[in-house]
Amino acid sequence: MTPIPATLIRGDGIGPEIMDAVLAALDALGAPFAFEERPAGLNAMERHGGDPLPEETLASIRRTRLALKGPLTTPVGSGFRSVNVRLREAFGLYANLRPCRTIVPGRFSDVDLVVVRENLGGLYVGQEHWIPVAGDPHAVGVATGFNTREACRRIVTYAFDYAVTHGRKTVTVVHKANILKVLSGLFLEEARAVAKDYAGRVAFDERIIDACAMQLVLDPARFDVLVTTNLFGDILSDLVAGLVGGLGFAPGANIGPDAAVFEAVHGSAPDIAGQGKANPVALLLAAGLMLDHAGRPDAARRLRDAITATLAAGTGTPDIGGTATTAEFGAAVAAAIRRAPAP
Ligand code: NAD
Repeated sequence: MTPIPATLIRGDGIGPEIMDAVLAALDALGAPFAFEERPAGLNAMERHGGDPLPEETLASIRRTRLALKGPLTTPVGSGFRSVNVRLREAFGLYANLRPCRTIVPGRFSDVDLVVVRENLGGLYVGQEHWIPVAGDPHAVGVATGFNTREACRRIVTYAFDYAVTHGRKTVTVVHKANILKVLSGLFLEEARAVAKDYAGRVAFDERIIDACAMQLVLDPARFDVLVTTNLFGDILSDLVAGLVGGLGFAPGANIGPDAAVFEAVHGSAPDIAGQGKANPVALLLAAGLMLDHAGRPDAARRLRDAITATLAAGTGTPDIGGTATTAEFGAAVAAAIRRAPAP
């Protein structure tokens, strides 16, 4: 099959190591992507005159409409704006998809859910200011959030369409409309309206965010597709990653009308960078999502089966109690793919 053009960003910290492991696995699948490698992040800033998201990288994604991205470091407090947020804005990547499935049974053996997060609005937009009082310039902190009817409808429709195309049964809208009657109320109002269009095909459920968090921790198997606003989705998707073994197992997709960017949910892990200790599973699973998105579901399934088989055989990186290096894990997944050739 013809390789699919795609942009590759290795990223910062552990990014290059885990990306090498992913590339080894993709090679074993017959290199389904023709990658254009482009810089972004702290490393790009050092090499490309100060911009952590150079124009050549944006131009490549504009062309390929598909990117696999390693984690990027964002300095806390001062410094540049998050490159991840800039990428979402530049390409209108309004849907953040975070599937969460048990691979190695732990506290739960049957988690299989998807968090669909609105990626561009809500309280997460970070429109903030201080109000000085009596000589204290930081006496009051104010944050403003925005949800538009159109953005609410678009993300809930995305969640329902995802449910239909992936054979999912229920979409649960997660909100705080009892308190935030405007910001969250609009989201719930639109969700109820969209749900009517899918009646009989996909069931609809509503949960208040705090109750939902507790129910997820007690009994995650009761959930299927969850759709929520930006900040709640940010928090819930890390919570659900914790149900299946942590961030090392959590992939994410950022999807818009013009492009899609696939990544691990975790960051650049500077504490273990360069030591061969990083777990590449999340980025491997992200590559699987990218194969699904690009219309290669068979290759995606082979990749996921090989990851499961490798972990089941006891091969794992130190974060999950194993002794394999990042490269050894990637090689083991590649070998598992080659052992189970294409049907
Ligand atoms: P982090 O996810 O990088 O690390 C948190 C902890 O988890 C660390 O102890 C780390 O060693 C461990 N960890 C993370 N990924 C791992 C993996 N694959 N294998 C084994 N252990 C792993 O979070 P952080 O330390 O808060 O952030 C570090 C940097 O990453 C920051 O600059 C942050 O802004 C950035 N970040 C980027 C993204 C992204 O690019 N999508 C996401 C989150 C954080």
